[in-house]
Amino acid sequence: MARIAVIGGGFVGLSSAYWLLRDGHQVTVFESTGVGHPQGGASFGNAGTFANYACIPVNNPSVFRDLPRYLLSSESPLRLRWSYLPQLAPWLARFLWSSTTARYTASATELSHLLARAHTGYADMVVQVGLEQFIQRRECLYLYSTKNAFAGSQATLDLRRRLGVQVSVLDGAQVQALEPSLSPIFERGVLFPGSWFLSDPAAFLNTLKDWSMTHGVQLQNTKVTKIFPRADGVTLHTAAGEASFDKVALCAGAFSRDLAAQCGDRVPLDAERGYHLMFPDTHALISRPVGWAERGFYMTPMARGIRVAGTVELAGLQRNQHQGLLELLSFSARRALPALTVPTEPWLGFRPTLPDGLPVMGYASASKRVVYAFGHQHIGLTLGGLSGALVADLVAGRTPALDHKAFAASRF
Ligand SMILES: Cc1cc2nc3c(=O)[nH]c(=O)nc-3n(C[C@H](O)[C@H](O)[C@H](O)COP(=O)(O)OP(=O)(O)OC[C@H]3O[C@@H](n4cnc5c(N)ncnc54)[C@H](O)[C@@H]3O)c2cc1C
Repeated sequence: MARIAVIGGGFVGLSSAYWLLRDGHQVTVFESTGVGHPQGGASFGNAGTFANYACIPVNNPSVFRDLPRYLLSSESPLRLRWSYLPQLAPWLARFLWSSTTARYTASATELSHLLARAHTGYADMVVQVGLEQFIQRRECLYLYSTKNAFAGSQATLDLRRRLGVQVSVLDGAQVQALEPSLSPIFERGVLFPGSWFLSDPAAFLNTLKDWSMTHGVQLQNTKVTKIFPRADGVTLHTAAGEASFDKVALCAGAFSRDLAAQCGDRVPLDAERGYHLMFPDTHALISRPVGWAERGFYMTPMARGIRVAGTVELAGLQRNQHQGLLELLSFSARRALPALTVPTEPWLGFRPTLPDGLPVMGYASASKRVVYAFGHQHIGLTLGGLSGALVADLVAGRTPALDHKAFAASRF
């Protein structure tokens, strides 16, 4: 048994704590804001989809065609805050470099390997912790409102199929029959068999947290400010003082960059900011997560109502919300589902994203006593369980079942 610290209490951190506990370790989770807290990580407010089909990274060749239009259109779900451009420039340059056909296909292939095993990271946890109550086993539906948009998605659909993702294409009438409350504006839909969704991501996390604490995990509600790997352990500085551990897992999502730098790795981690709105008591309108491709968002029927979540804003880690993007989300959602009325609870979250679309998972350059698991971009809920299992393997010094070479921090 070793003393292990996990930095971050989102899907990745809490899953790591779960798998480390199963290995018999004494685990302490450091969480600066509070597990499942709206001001915390991306894990609180995501669209709740277990998106095991989402192997297409944002860096893909269509950005060369679409980026200028996206950045200049007021209806675009992708925004860049121009004042942030100087800080973003190195990330953006690498992002574009990673968007050639060969590089994006390589990233998509690596992601598909992770996603094909993603369910194994949760299967045992769901049973042991009693998390099935939050899982809705109905597949996600992705929609296209024009023939052109669907035609433009063929290359990515073909790549998904080649990488083993099951897709089932529907015409407009079939979409309408499946989800009758939708506006009849959709030309095509794609169903992803085997995907599912959560009725309440924060409740899932809090139940996992409570179970973990009952089984011995300690939770420290404090921020880790410094990390010092040494030959015989790792010391953490926190707002509450100093603490030493045998090993540390860094799972702080979009906030991991400075701590990784202290462990010898300068990673170009940035945030793809995303938003959500809630439409209370509307969940009966749709039976599954429904995404609208051109508008870049999902509508998910959660326990308290439909959550409309998505968009991408490149503007760093400030907490200033983009009112225009929230209005676009609301407008687009009501266009797709006319019965929606007034949204509440506008929320901003930070997807942790590396420019090649792959997470960072593996040992730190400075010491094998520090293990990384961050940078899961749009699919951190989906990959949380699997990432936690990998963290436990690396902490134990076991050879993971998963080949994780492509995710090394040293690739930058
Ligand atoms: C709008 C939106 C929709 C999304 N939809 C989906 C979806 O449908 N499916 C999916 O799979 N993914 C989705 N995602 C992505 C997913 O939410 C993230 O990839 C995932 O939450 C990342 O989890 P994480 O544990 O790595 O990081 P986070 O959830 O960000 O957690 C990191 C935690 O670390 C804490 N922390 C940070 N710094 C420190 C520190 N120094 N000391 C202590 N604690 C610290 C933070 O408070 C935070 O709680 C979505 C994201 C957004 C924004």
